[in-house]
Amino acid sequence: MSIKAVPQAGFTASVPVVIVGAGAAGLCAALSANQAGADVIVLERDSIPRGSTALSAGLIPAAATRFQKALNISDDPVLFAHDVARKAHGEADDAIVNLVTRESAATVEWLADRHGFPFSVVHDFDYPGHSARRMHGLPSRSGLELIDRLREAADESDIPLVLNATVSALHAGADRIVRGVEITRPDGTRDSLGCAALILACNGYGGAADLVSKHIPEMRAATYFGHPGNRGDALLWGAALGARLMHLSGYQGHGSLAHPHAVLITWAVIMEGGFQVNAAGLRFSDESGGYSEQAAIVLAQPGGTAFDIFDERIAAIARQFADFQQAEASGAVIEAASVTQLAERLNLPAGALAQSFAEVEAVRASGGADRFGRRFAGAAPLAPPFKAVKVTGALFHTQGGLAVDTSARVHDTGGTALPNLLAAGGAAVGVSGARASGYLSGNGLLTATVLGRVAGQSAAGLVKQMA
Ligand SMILES: Cc1cc2nc3c(=O)[nH]c(=O)nc-3n(C[C@H](O)[C@H](O)[C@H](O)COP(=O)(O)OP(=O)(O)OC[C@H]3O[C@@H](n4cnc5c(N)ncnc54)[C@H](O)[C@@H]3O)c2cc1C
Repeated sequence: MSIKAVPQAGFTASVPVVIVGAGAAGLCAALSANQAGADVIVLERDSIPRGSTALSAGLIPAAATRFQKALNISDDPVLFAHDVARKAHGEADDAIVNLVTRESAATVEWLADRHGFPFSVVHDFDYPGHSARRMHGLPSRSGLELIDRLREAADESDIPLVLNATVSALHAGADRIVRGVEITRPDGTRDSLGCAALILACNGYGGAADLVSKHIPEMRAATYFGHPGNRGDALLWGAALGARLMHLSGYQGHGSLAHPHAVLITWAVIMEGGFQVNAAGLRFSDESGGYSEQAAIVLAQPGGTAFDIFDERIAAIARQFADFQQAEASGAVIEAASVTQLAERLNLPAGALAQSFAEVEAVRASGGADRFGRRFAGAAPLAPPFKAVKVTGALFHTQGGLAVDTSARVHDTGGTALPNLLAAGGAAVGVSGARASGYLSGNGLLTATVLGRVAGQSAAGLVKQMA
């Protein structure tokens, strides 16, 4: 992944706005650039656009949407911004936090109204750190549906999507204006394409083991559950062009990946009153802090695994997620009629597991906090049949990236915008700060969709200025 001089023979073809990556960020950018009147093309390395977007639950947090209003959920973008900033320990850029939270409702409603996405609010459980129920998802509650609908919307808008097209280099000179890109095909042949503005939407560096080891050593040995094609290209090109790189140690982890089935188990199983125990049958943390920081905590347990413990009432809520249905179908979800039988099926010490159940019930009944600081007040007591899933911690997606401004333009280390380079989604620095615990649920698709839309509008504006 390098920066090359402009080819002497010129470019094979040119398109004003070129976008690298056809995930949520790239496709939202393409739709908005197209809507703003720019000619745009999307280059995607895979034969079918999927990205980490397809692996996600497809939930986009947004405040004060009409979907919330229909359910009498009171929310506002300032409250949302406060939640994001607080979870990020105040480390995220306030201007970007304010932008993405303020524009979140308009972005979700834009996808719904202009492109027909049938969103609804996840209204039956709380996500940690969110002061209101504001996760918006599609009927299957899966990112696969989100990416498929985005691709269909791009098709309907006649936006060219070039597949099997890995962008292998950028063409730029000493003036740092990106003049075009080099495309490498699966058979090794190369092509070049000129541009007036370039949007990097090729996510972060979770798929580059060397970069993960360097920047996020605590997840060096963890399963990477994001898209393998996200290899840090945006980061490397940005660095070569003098861009400011921020919060490289930040990431989204998850402490509830079914093991060994490798299926995401929604954190609803914990937030609704479930808990985690380790191989000794004992609790080890306040699970309600968030699933991201829980990844490293679970990995630190014996064998790097834990068990989510919940019941049928909670499983019924979790079944709205296609992933949970898949986990049940693949045998990852264990059921038992009693705590003793559950211990037997999980091969856990029965006494210790019974003690964990009793501790949780005592804390719930008292309304107070347990020794880790977790409260269970408001949750119904767990009742048979009980459910459990063996889980591990995983790295889902990196949160560090290129510094951008509120127009999604990439900035250099001196704080000046590069002439025509923009970034969105996981290619840009997120709003989670430098630690896993800074990730508020939904930060990933929030910056992919909102910043993607902004990047498309800005790129179209840049192209008009240049014309
Ligand atoms: C299991 C899982 C669950 C998640 N659940 C949620 C959730 O419910 N809500 C939420 O907000 N976030 C969630 N996330 C995070 C979310 O998926 C990401 O933040 C988001 O999808 C990032 O979008 P993106 O467009 O930046 O990247 P991606 O969707 O990964 O798209 C990047 C694309 O760029 C392509 N690409 C990379 N390099 C090149 C290159 N050199 N040339 C051409 N193409 C290239 C890739 O092939 C890929 O298609 C989850 C993540 C995972 C892994």
